[in-house]
Order: sequence, then structure tokens, then C-alpha cells
Amino acid sequence: MKTASSHSLPPHIHYLDGQLGVEQRSLEALAREHGTPLFVYSQAAMLDALGGYQRALAGREHLICYAMKANSTLGILQSLVRAGCGLDIVSGGELERALAAGVTPERIIFSGVGKTRAEMRRALAVGIGCFNVESRAELDVLDAVAQEVGQRAPVSIRVNPNVDAKTHPYISTGLKGNKFGIAHEDVVATYQHAATCRGLRVVGIDCHIGSQITQTEPYLDAMDRVLDLVQAIETSGVAIAHIDFGGGLGIDYNADAPPPAQQLWTQLLHKLDARGFGDRKILLEPGRSLVGNAGVCVTEVLYLKPGEQKNFLIVDAAMNDLPRPAMYEAFHRIVPVAPRPGAPTTWDVVGPVCESGDWLGRDRALAVQAGDLLAVLSAGAYCMSMASNYNTRGRATELLVQGEQVTVIRQRETAADQMRLESLLP
Ligand SMILES: *Cc1c(COP(=O)(O)O)cnc(C)c1O
Repeated sequence: MKTASSHSLPPHIHYLDGQLGVEQRSLEALAREHGTPLFVYSQAAMLDALGGYQRALAGREHLICYAMKANSTLGILQSLVRAGCGLDIVSGGELERALAAGVTPERIIFSGVGKTRAEMRRALAVGIGCFNVESRAELDVLDAVAQEVGQRAPVSIRVNPNVDAKTHPYISTGLKGNKFGIAHEDVVATYQHAATCRGLRVVGIDCHIGSQITQTEPYLDAMDRVLDLVQAIETSGVAIAHIDFGGGLGIDYNADAPPPAQQLWTQLLHKLDARGFGDRKILLEPGRSLVGNAGVCVTEVLYLKPGEQKNFLIVDAAMNDLPRPAMYEAFHRIVPVAPRPGAPTTWDVVGPVCESGDWLGRDRALAVQAGDLLAVLSAGAYCMSMASNYNTRGRATELLVQGEQVTVIRQRETAADQMRLESLLP
């Protein structure tokens, strides 16, 4: 079991005078002012993470499209857009958020297996950069919708590279037998078909092989397979202007050791060059690796509930705020905001929601008392964007820290906010 301080904290999150802080701000002071549960993000951590990709791709034609489903709060989108990112969206709602955050529409790409006609129409009307199409049926609907409005939709086809599951079992979306992408053997025929559609304009190819990937080999394998396909597609007479290698790079949740983005992409671009495709525009769709380690969720210990088999630490954050443990049994480190001296006890850290699945961490060694604050680390990705109102719990406040400056990027949701769209019976 790991104690709170047994390994290093994520960048820009540190103890200063016995108090946990994000950049220049103390979490205890922020929690006192804004209440808990509270999400606090370091903008510098996000921009540093982005910098790794940008340095690797410097001097090449490229576009890094932040996969905004990881965290779609407007202040987060603005931070990344102002630093040069485009956005990868998966719904009409995300399209509206992307536009509200001020991204240039041509820097938006639209992923996802189930785009509706209405979403396609809106995306065509605003002029997005590319539709990443995931099936033949979707291709034909997009062709029809674009022709109705007198446009040619820019398309890329998401290919399923079928990266070997045996060597890389953690890959969940790049294998045969899942719903994503077009099977390897059907790709050339699908491109030839797309090239004949009057409502479509082929611009690229894309793949996305999974999430929380911590090794380099699956990317190298996938790149080889995608480049084999580019070669075959071009031999068949269809030009591919950009290659989109998706997202999926993991972060350090608990002594995971993913390759740094700059190192990974330097290696991958070396392969791209060696295979003669170094002149192509590169698109990437990172989500978690840009924001995951930039966020913490601060929660207050409400009650200590020692028991015969288990000791429970009941905190005021729950599965509706931070769904990854309940959904995926995911691990998040939990550390005290102001560590106390004394021997730690082993606790299951659980929330107030009426479900046994409502836990944030199991078997954690912590020395705490009621009223203490805990910080759940690596809470920047797939936490707030997956938060719900289950148990009519309002979504938490979100703060963005930039050095000493703090901006409330989302206010705490009230019960009235939650009931706003409902009506009483007459
Ligand atoms: C979710 C997703 C991403 C981002 O994945 P991360 O693991 O957060 O980097 C990128 N592209 C597509 C198509 C996705 O579905």
C-alpha cells in the first residue's frame, strides 16, 4: 500500500509549508472560499502537456485537436484553443461548446459512430474541418445531407487497425469486434466509393486505438498498418492529404509510466519519415494526456465510520462528481490537503450516494479526522465531463488557476438549476 507522500505529485501540484497547492494557490484557502467538492485545474500543467506534442511536431504541418469529451468546460477549451489547439468533437452539443469557446470552425473535427443528420447539417453550416466517418452507412447519409445543402463534406475515414490484442490487451477501440472504425479489409473499397460521392471530399484517414495507453508499441503497430492502408488507397487513385493518429496516450494515475508525448511523437514521426510519408499533414486527438493530471478534486471528510471488516471514510464528493472509480474501477490517488502527523489507518473512501459502487478509493492509508480536506488527484479528465445529477446532487464548482490568479470557470449547480427544465403538473 502506498502512503500519501510515497511518490511524486503531478506537475504544478505541490506541498508548500505543509499545505497542498495548485500553482501559487493553497487548496485549503480555495476550499474555504468556494466550498467542496471543488475541482481545481492548473492551466500551466495543461499548457506544459500540450507543449510536449507541439515541440515534437514543430516544423511540420499539423493540427492538435483536443478531444474535448475529456473535459469540455469552456474555460478549459479556451485555454487550449488560445494555445493553438483545434478541437475534436463527438456531438452537436460539443460543437456548440467549441464555437462558444471561440475555436475557428475549420479547426474542428467531428468523431463518433452515431452522428445524426441534424448534427451533420449544423457542422456543415458552420464549416468544420473534417468529419471522421465510421461506417459505410454514415458515409452515404453524410453524402446525401451535404448534397441537400449544396456542399461537399470534408471526410476522413476512421480505420480499425486491428492491433494485436494479445500483446496489447489494454487497447479497447482498435480491435475487430468493437463498434469503432471500418475494418481493415474494407477500407480501400470504402475510399473508392467515397471518391465517387458528389457530396463528399476525401481529405484524410484516421484511427484511434484506445485510451490510457502506456506503451509505445501499439502506436508503432497502428502507424504501420495505417500507412500500409494509405499506400493502398493512393495506389487505387484516391489522395490522402492528412493522417490523423487519434489520441489515447495515458497519464500517471498510480506509478503508470506512459512515454512523454514529445518522446513518443519524435519516435513515431521518425517512422513516418522512414516510410516516406513525412510530407503529410499530421492530426492528433489527445484528450486525457492534456488535462488529466492538471486537475484535482478537493473533498471534505464528513464522517469516520470504522467497522469490523472495513473502515469507511465518508466524504462529500461522490460517484456523480467523479464517476471513473464506479464506472471502470479506476484508481485515483487520494492525498491529504494538510497532512497530519500520526499513524495512518486503512480506509475505503466513499461518497454519500445511495449505491455500493459509490467509492473513490479503496484501502487507502490516511491519517485523517472529520473536517479534513482530501485531494483526489488526476481528476482533470473524464471526471467533470462525466458528472451527473444523480441523487439530485449539484455539479461541483470548477476553478482554473494561472499562477496566483483564480477564475471560477463553472459555478456550483443549485437545486433550482437542476429543476429549471421541469414542470409541475397543473
Ligand atoms: C476519446 C477519444 C479521443 C481521446 O482519447 P484520450 O484517451 O482521452 O486521449 C480521441 N479520439 C477519439 C475518436 C476518441 O473517441
